[in-house]
Amino acid sequence: MKKLSDFADDINKCSKCGKCQEVCPVYKLTGNDCAVSRGKFVMLSGVLKGDLKLNKTIEKYLDMCIKCGKCKDFCPSDIDVCEIFNTAKSEYIKDKFYGKITRFIQSRKIFNKILGLVKWFRKSKPQLKGQTKLLYFKGCVNEIYPKSENAMKKVLAHFDVELIEKNFECCGVPFLSSGNLERYEEVKQHNMELLKGQYDYIITDCASCESALKNYDANFNVVNICHYLVLQNKKFIYNKPLKVTFHKPCHLKSSAFLRPLFAKCENVEYLEAQGYDECCGFAGEFAIRNPKLSFAMTRQKADNLAKTGADIILTACPACIMGIHQGFLGKRHPKIMNIIEFLAMADEIK
Ligand code: SF4
Ligand code: SF4
Repeated sequence: MKKLSDFADDINKCSKCGKCQEVCPVYKLTGNDCAVSRGKFVMLSGVLKGDLKLNKTIEKYLDMCIKCGKCKDFCPSDIDVCEIFNTAKSEYIKDKFYGKITRFIQSRKIFNKILGLVKWFRKSKPQLKGQTKLLYFKGCVNEIYPKSENAMKKVLAHFDVELIEKNFECCGVPFLSSGNLERYEEVKQHNMELLKGQYDYIITDCASCESALKNYDANFNVVNICHYLVLQNKKFIYNKPLKVTFHKPCHLKSSAFLRPLFAKCENVEYLEAQGYDECCGFAGEFAIRNPKLSFAMTRQKADNLAKTGADIILTACPACIMGIHQGFLGKRHPKIMNIIEFLAMADEIK
């Protein structure tokens, strides 16, 4: 596992050009240079030189990041910021009491026992056996609350697919954001073993799982289920006219499927929201560590989505669904759901 000192060259590569400020949603809201990569690299380079120690203030600023990766895509020095911030966080919390508690709760023994208990109450679903082989990475949220999983299986029953399920662990995103890199490596190795094999696609209905799998190995042919559906020659027919809008999760690599998919939905009008691809502001641990900032960002997102006048708000990540709900707190709002649940609502698929 890497140490902060292994990233010295990357940290020193930061030219302090400030281009990351133009795209960082947290900087845009706070105007605080420590909230964006440039400021964090100034602090971390001080740590590497021995002028500073990793401390509570630096941890606070490391946590003031939604790990959207927008600064990385924009950075002329091509620095992988998220990996560096996660490593610094991990080094800071490793000997702290709450770091030890987090590691205990997230350990294979405890974490999987909790998921195992929930699974025990679930009814097994009929198997899909068809020509195209889809390996399904289910994700923890579906283990607990399988609404989008059930919707996906309902939709896929209309297609000639075999849906293969394996005993995957959590994708690891929650472990990364809490600085538990050992546990992340453990689940990554476990999942990578199970991902080996010949499949037409590895599919998910969760953008965070999708990005985690791509980070394991960029060669994995992992796509959101909608990418598969849009390539098929079927229509989704809705008896009543519906207006929908979509929030693109930061972790969804591409939303190119969106317009072609809605073109296959009869009686559905897609209304693009302002800033539809900007972060919802929830981002797991970010919401817990920065509740005021998170609330301001989710409120802005909810307002933009509501302004479209859509009957239904769609997205592709369970954390974003929670974020959008948070943004509407105390207000009436349209239905909010995973896009696959919306496809399963079609009156006919043919
Ligand atoms: S864009 Fe990259 S090089 Fe420029 S200040 Fe930000 S992190 Fe540093
Ligand atoms: S990952 Fe996103 S939130 Fe974090 S510093 Fe970069 S742009 Fe800002």
